[in-house]
Parts: sequence; C-alpha cells; structure tokens
Amino acid sequence: MPADPTPPPHPAEQPHPARRDLLRTGLATGAATALGLAATTGAAAAAPDQAPQQAPNGTERTLTLTGHLPTGAPDFVYLPVEVPDGVREIAVSYGYDKPQVPAGTPGNSCDIGIFDERGTDLGGDGFRGWSGGFRTEFALARDTATPGYLPGPINPGTWHVVLGPYQVAPQGLDYRVQVTLRFGEPGPEFVPHYPSERARGRGRAWYRGDCHLHTVHSDGRRLPEEVAAGARAAGLDFIVSTDHNTSSSHAVWGPLAGPDLLIVPGEEITTRNGHWLALGLEPGEFVDWRYRSRDEEYPRFVRQVHRAGGLVVPAHPYCPYIACQWKFGYEQADAVEVWNGPWTYDDESAVDTWDSELAVALRNGRSWRPAMGNSDAHSAPQVIGLPHNVVLAEDLTRDAVLDGLRAGRSWLAESSAVRLDLTVTGHGRQAGIGEELTVPADAPLDVRVVVSGVPGGTVRLLTDEGQLHQESLPADGSGTVVWRTTASLAAYVRAEVRHPRADGTPGKGNTMGGDLPWGPMAALTNPVVLRAEER
Ligand SMILES: [Zn+2]
Ligand SMILES: [Zn+2]
Repeated sequence: MPADPTPPPHPAEQPHPARRDLLRTGLATGAATALGLAATTGAAAAAPDQAPQQAPNGTERTLTLTGHLPTGAPDFVYLPVEVPDGVREIAVSYGYDKPQVPAGTPGNSCDIGIFDERGTDLGGDGFRGWSGGFRTEFALARDTATPGYLPGPINPGTWHVVLGPYQVAPQGLDYRVQVTLRFGEPGPEFVPHYPSERARGRGRAWYRGDCHLHTVHSDGRRLPEEVAAGARAAGLDFIVSTDHNTSSSHAVWGPLAGPDLLIVPGEEITTRNGHWLALGLEPGEFVDWRYRSRDEEYPRFVRQVHRAGGLVVPAHPYCPYIACQWKFGYEQADAVEVWNGPWTYDDESAVDTWDSELAVALRNGRSWRPAMGNSDAHSAPQVIGLPHNVVLAEDLTRDAVLDGLRAGRSWLAESSAVRLDLTVTGHGRQAGIGEELTVPADAPLDVRVVVSGVPGGTVRLLTDEGQLHQESLPADGSGTVVWRTTASLAAYVRAEVRHPRADGTPGKGNTMGGDLPWGPMAALTNPVVLRAEER
C-alpha cells in the first residue's frame, strides 16, 4: 500500500503579510518567485539587492522564507536561495499551518525537496533530493546527506527549495521554510556503494523477488539493512529498491547485497495522477516526477527508463488515496502491478482491468502485458515479500530477472510458502507460464496446476471467457488440478489460488451477490497463450 497519506502535524506558522503578497504575485505569473529572505540569526544578512557574501568558516546564516499558498496553487512552488561561496552544508526545516477543515475535506499537506545551482528543469541535472511529506528537516553536504538527499558539491549559485502542496485546505496553506547555510571546508568526496548486477544464481531457475520496497530514503521507517534482512527472511532471491522520487538509496545497497540476494536500483515515480515503478535504473539514475497525465511529459520518462534497460510498471492503479489512481494509460507500460500488499478490493479491480487488456492485446497481435505483485512495504508490520513475483530467469542477474518479468514468465505468490506450477500440454507440445502454445484449433489441451502451501484454498482456471473451472484444495493445501480445453475455446488460460472467504466458505465462481465472491489471493499466474494453427 502507499504510505499513509497524512504527514505528521506541524506547528502553525503565521507568515509576514508582506511576504504573502509577494508570493501571490509570483503565483499569478506562474514564475519562480524571489521570496523575502530575512536573516534571523548571525550577522551579514544580505540586502535584497546585494549578492550574498561568503562568511567565515564555522559561522552560519539562516534565511526564513514564508508565504501563503491558496487553493489552486501550482503543483510545485520553487523558492530560490542564493548560496554564496564557502558553504559546507545546507540545512532546511519547514512547517505549515493545519487549519480545521470540514469532515471529508482534505487538510493541508506539503512535500519538500531541493534542487541545486544547475536548475529546476524537468529531467535536468539539478535534482538533489526529495523527502515528500515524511520529514520536517534535512541537510546536505559534499560527503553526507539526510536519506532521500544526494551528497555532493555545495556549489555557489541559485538553489531552489521546492514545495509540493498536494493538499491545500479551503483556507489556504501558510508555510515557513528556514534555510541555514553553514560555512566551512567541504568534507571528503562521497563514495557511492552501488550493488552488483549479479548474484550467485542456480542458472535457469525460478527466482523470487519483491520489486516495490521503501526505506528511510523516502517515507519508510526501515533502514536499508532491515529491508535486506527482511528480504532474506522472506526467502527472496532479489529485490528492487523503489523509494519515492529519489535515487539516494542506490548508493547504500552495495554491502547489503550479496551472493544470495540481488538488489536492483529503481524508483517509485510519484505523480499527481498515479505512481509508477521504474525497475532497473542505472545506479544513481533519477527519474523526474513533476508532471501530470495532461502534461504529455510521461512518454519522455518512459523512454528514459527503457534506455536504461528497465521496466515501466504502473503501481496500485486503483489505490483510493489522493493522487494515487493511475491516469496515464497502460499503452507504454511493460507490466502492471495488479497486487499491492495484503489483498484488498482495489487489487480485484486491477486484476479485472489487466485481464480485459490481455484479450485486446492478443486480438491486436501486440505483446500482452504481464501482471506483477509486490509488497510496497514501508515499515513494520508491513511484510516484505507479501506478495512477490516468482520469475523464470536464465540466471540471478539484473538483466535476466528483468527479461523474465518483461516476458511474463512469472507468477505471483503471497509468500515463499506457496508453490505453484502451471502447464498446458497437447498435440505433443507443452507450454508454461508466459509461453505460447500453437496447436490445431480442436486439439485437446490438458491444463495442469500443481499447488502447495494454501490450506483450504481454491484453484480457479480462467480464460478470455472468465472462470471455467473451480476446484478446492485439501486441508493440507497441496493438490493437482487438471482441466481440458482447446485453442478454439480459449485464447489463454491462467490460474488463481484463493484463500477461503471470511465465513470459511471457498466462494463460488460465476455467481453474483452483495459480497465479493472470493477470499484473498494466495497466488496468481500470468497466462499461457493458446494459438490455433493456421490450416
Ligand atoms: Zn505508491
Ligand atoms: Zn510504494
């Protein structure tokens, strides 16, 4: 699930009226606005028309930026900060008011991040970090930075603190940002420790991996060490690191990966029109998030991820939180995350949409889009690996795992206790998950599912006609289900394994009623595609 959308409360701050007017002017023009800079500590406050001066080592200077954002404020508000020579560290803290709002009306929520002297251009080089609404303060220097921020040179020039007011109360949002410039000698150069692109695999085999995980580098409370330990405890072979809107964690995974655990750099790109996963970025590569569906910028960032050999995967497309529903379409996606964390009704919707698109893709001769399942775990007690992907890869390497996921040679499991095999056999041929079987249209095809680890579970077999077969597993959770079809009857066949419903019944397919007909998902496969031979 996405992070709790409500950030911690901040003390109310009353901005200076004159500063509020300044910002209103800026909003009206849509330009980045020079806000009032008022030195609140130290000497040497720069006059507005005077370039900021270097100060002696060991001293600091604090600027306070205040303003009012009305309903309808831009998605991102850029506050310029002049950084003189000789700054060792920039420290930022912020807060905003939380006026009472009527029940059902969103209150104030404001994200924060920073860009350096290279500028704020979309997809540009100036990005230096983002903490969303998770932190009220951060700092960055040449050798170190708060998680979510990038260590590196503190060069002189115009930096920008960026605010992301993603919920604004009817009364508006009054903010107060304090920027402290600490003067001194820069620390040593930061040395990133990126993870290896390969682990010790078992050759061509099924590997288990959770491709959507958060740490303290965005809004998770787990340290990277804890995520790596949790992945090992869950029986996973690989993970993808997907902190929101930053690449800062990439540099810490090196010593936490190992022969038994592949760690792939990625990012969760969190826009106002839904979230998507970039799975497999170059180490340290950052993907911008500052656009909406209407802005037509998304395709450019899809291309960026594809150039890196990575996958574009819309995440939790029906999550009801503000700005979490997927509005960019599926055309450019490589896969779709139909199962996010513990099974909930929005996952049912995602599976239904994905299933409908399978039939369209096969009709149009396009490659179909595989399903994925990931935990999106942020903090305890969210379970790493619930669910995860079990992918057939040539080896335990970044590229081989991504190839398997891209091809849909994968199924989704709630835990490593669940095992599953799906094959379709007929006319002397056989195909498995994600593969195609081309046979005479009326040749009998035996669909065989072998499952274990789902006590009292129910196996469902589905085709482009919907559920065509349902069979319960015994109490020990292990069983084999066999069912016969033909390529003329079914364009594809896929399997689901469901837990019993809350009342203990298995559920009944092909029925309607007031309740969901199924218990939670335990396993879901990508399809085996069936094609009738041309005569
Ligand atoms: Zn998300
Ligand atoms: Zn997430």
